[in-house]
Amino acid sequence: MEPNLPSGDGQKGPPKNSPNIVHFFIVGIVITFILNMVVSTMMTDRKVQIEYGQFIQLVEDGAVKQVRIETDQIALTLKDGANQSRVAQILHGSPENSQVLKSLVYYTGRLDDPGLTQRLIDNEVAFYKPIVQSNPILSFISSWIFPLLIFYGVYYVITRNFSKSLGGIGGMMNVGKSKAKYYDMEKNTGVSFNDVAGQDEAKESLTELVDFLHSPEKYRQIGAKQPKGALLVGPPGTGKTLLAKAVAGEAKVPFFSLSGSEFVEMFVGVGASRVRDLFGEAAKHAPCIIFIDEIDAIGKSRDTHLGGNDEREQTLNQLLAEMDGFDSSKGVLILAATNRPEILDKALLRPGRFDRRIIVENPDLPGREAILAVHAKKVTLGPDVKLREIGLATSGATGADLANMVNEAALRAVRLGRTEVLQEDLMDAVEVVIAGKEKKDRILNPREKRMVAFHETGHALAAAVQADRETDAPPVQKITIIPRTMGALGYTMNRPEEERYLMTRSELLARITTLLAGRAAEEIEFGEISTGAANDIERATKLARSMVTQYGMSGKFGMMALESVQNQYLDGRSVSLVSEATGADVDKEVACILDECHQKALALLRQNRDRLAEIALFLIERETMSGFQFMELLRGRKTA
Ligand code: ADP
Ligand code: MG
Ligand code: ZN
Repeated sequence: MEPNLPSGDGQKGPPKNSPNIVHFFIVGIVITFILNMVVSTMMTDRKVQIEYGQFIQLVEDGAVKQVRIETDQIALTLKDGANQSRVAQILHGSPENSQVLKSLVYYTGRLDDPGLTQRLIDNEVAFYKPIVQSNPILSFISSWIFPLLIFYGVYYVITRNFSKSLGGIGGMMNVGKSKAKYYDMEKNTGVSFNDVAGQDEAKESLTELVDFLHSPEKYRQIGAKQPKGALLVGPPGTGKTLLAKAVAGEAKVPFFSLSGSEFVEMFVGVGASRVRDLFGEAAKHAPCIIFIDEIDAIGKSRDTHLGGNDEREQTLNQLLAEMDGFDSSKGVLILAATNRPEILDKALLRPGRFDRRIIVENPDLPGREAILAVHAKKVTLGPDVKLREIGLATSGATGADLANMVNEAALRAVRLGRTEVLQEDLMDAVEVVIAGKEKKDRILNPREKRMVAFHETGHALAAAVQADRETDAPPVQKITIIPRTMGALGYTMNRPEEERYLMTRSELLARITTLLAGRAAEEIEFGEISTGAANDIERATKLARSMVTQYGMSGKFGMMALESVQNQYLDGRSVSLVSEATGADVDKEVACILDECHQKALALLRQNRDRLAEIALFLIERETMSGFQFMELLRGRKTA
């Protein structure tokens, strides 16, 4: 759970004003009272009270050895050689009753008896009056204060363990005061820039920060102020957290990390006090790095229309105040990561706070190759492995995806009883990550199988026919009709392409046509359509809509921006900027593009109907075909 930190962060004890401690003390007082009663009755049990007359008689009889005269009572000790039956006669009225036990102490109330002293002297009884009488203050302390202190100790131990074991919830009793660890501290992260591949620009900007931490004097001499914070921005899984750790590792400084959501609790004020604590703790360990992951959880813009969130705003204000307050020359650097920079409060981004923005993008082809190489170092590779091919096949994959693929490949190799990872393991892992595992127990009936085969062949054929004729490479890498766990009944893996940064209008149209060709093939072959095209339709529509609303590629609206992208690093959702009436026109325009492409797909497949059937039949028989097999079938027909 929460990591334990040495020194300075122990609990300062429960708060004084919580109602629980009052309850606890009331219970404590009651128990102490009962204890005192029990103790005093036990003490009186061992004492036997006798009448004053009996006391005088015992003295006169010479049975008393010693007398202790206290303030309001007289205690007496009997002589060892006293006549037992005589004593019994005096005390109990009969000589037989000899329950005279030496261990008992007899006492009687002290009367105003001026002759007592003389009487004791006459009967040779030793007597004295104790000088130190039971001090009322001392006895109060021993019977009341002391037990209460013990109760307090018990209370302290219990509450501390309670809040430790329950973390934030146990903190109900001492909300906000609890310093149970909500952050992680690593003395040495053990991560270096070498472990982060392919993010060269990001590493370059961070190298300077490392230098700041290393030798602050160099910058102070010239009068340069050290930057306080940097914001790492990029899609999930691209290595932001890894980079932050690498900065700490390179600079060899402690790394305090926590997630933005850990600041924000149910209780107002907790987040703010945690921010304070964290900065206080970090200042003690300077130079060091504070890393706030997913900072959007607290850094959300304060003027959202959804109504304020007091706790979050307080936390954010505290963070802003701390960032202004601390002296960066001490060498505390704040890094934060987010994949939603657009929602961050402007105040966080102004100079002097997170003024540096470091973009951590999805890796490009060389980047992917490098990341694969970093992770492949940890596994034993076979001689046939070509990481470049894997890099080509994984356009759009993040660093986390690639790390996962290498691991999946290693697992597959073990499953197949091999001691090294082969290229086929890696290719299979790519498919698993992209499309899910093969689901062998999902049996398609023959008609479904035919339909899926024609559908997939339709995609592949449309891609092949539209591909530019100069390259010889197959337009698809693999076609399969084995169902996958992620819902696909079959799929066509596109040709690995060199990185594309720009797409032309005709390329986009060709892509939409390819997407719609699956459905078109069903229509042509079966005169019937299936639900299998849902995903194709969704993607085609998205593309067509972007063409109209973002890329200015429709004849009707020209270069008018109709939508703006909201969170470019997550799902790329966009919001409409236009009136409802215009929105309806946009929809018409999108439908128009889709219809055009659908007609084109139908036309292409009709022209190549014999090839469509032949390749589909091959697929039904073999279930999987490679890009080369596909090309051979395609060409064989062409040349014949
Ligand atoms: P983020 O914080 O951006 O969501 P992480 O830093 O947590 O992503 O990355 C998750 C994992 O993915 C890392 O632990 C690492 O194994 C792998 N990874 C991501 N990017 C890279 C990279 N550039 N180089 C090497 N490994 C990477
Ligand atoms: Mg992260
Ligand atoms: Zn499809």
